[in-house]
Amino acid sequence: MVGGEFIFISTIQHLVISCLKITRELTLPAANYLKTRIAPTPSGFLHLGNVLSFAITAELARRNNAKILLRIDDMDRERVNEQYLQDVFDTLSFLEIEWHEGPRNIEEFEAVYSQLNRLPLYNMYLDKLCQNGKVYACNCSRKKLNSGAPCNCFDKKLPLDTPDATWRFVTGEESIEVKSYNGEMISAALPTEMRNFIVRKKDGFPAYQLTSVADDLFYGADLIVRGNDLWPSTLAQHVLAKALGRDDFGNITFYHHPLLTTTSGEKLSKSAGDTSVKYLREHGSSPAVIYSMIAQMMGISGAINNWQQLAGKIISLP
Ligand SMILES: [Zn+2]
Repeated sequence: MVGGEFIFISTIQHLVISCLKITRELTLPAANYLKTRIAPTPSGFLHLGNVLSFAITAELARRNNAKILLRIDDMDRERVNEQYLQDVFDTLSFLEIEWHEGPRNIEEFEAVYSQLNRLPLYNMYLDKLCQNGKVYACNCSRKKLNSGAPCNCFDKKLPLDTPDATWRFVTGEESIEVKSYNGEMISAALPTEMRNFIVRKKDGFPAYQLTSVADDLFYGADLIVRGNDLWPSTLAQHVLAKALGRDDFGNITFYHHPLLTTTSGEKLSKSAGDTSVKYLREHGSSPAVIYSMIAQMMGISGAINNWQQLAGKIISLP
């Protein structure tokens, strides 16, 4: 009898739990992401192109109830400085774009979130690539490579501790699958210019592709929003993550947005002073004026009042 009651009660409990689970699943939004990130590099003042990217990230986070991490990439040790770091905080607060995780100021950034704090993680990944014979040293000068001369360092088999050498990652020819925001899997090959890309710089610090993969996995981002110019990097990062044994990188969803260009069609750069948010802010432009400027540059007419409106227009572009 006691055994029978136990089975009966546990069956009821099981039914109740199953019903609760179904109710919970039914009330969750269809596309639900946990975390996305805003990832500026403080090597110049932020410009209108960054604002566009932040606005789209914030809007997609809002629509999906995702948290926003502020991830500041400071591995470019020669160019990063306090003025540019402060500009990240000033710009985001001026634009009224909030973030839920990450540093609130320079002190907190340096103590907890600077990439210098994660050097052991990056070096662990570099060691793994070394152990698997996936890297080689390259001592080609930038001048030589820019002139179009080929790098034959793979065949030279230079020691990895060669002074002033970068480490290049040996890429294959396999096709890469990327999970896109509309639910499709996009299949593509690594572009020629990304073959054997650099994973460790001449100064011994890890390069962008490696730190970006490591950080997005470390912080658990499951939605990455970035400009179309970073599509080759997205492909490179998938290849790298696989070689690091982190196939879970393939579960991240990517949203690539159109780029803001000058009237002559060039990509905006940080050296273009008059498109820096700091310049515009100090010359009296309100956030609404800045959002409207971006919309106009994107061929969208009419006034824009906030980042939600700007992003909404861009997201719905054909
Ligand atoms: Zn080389």
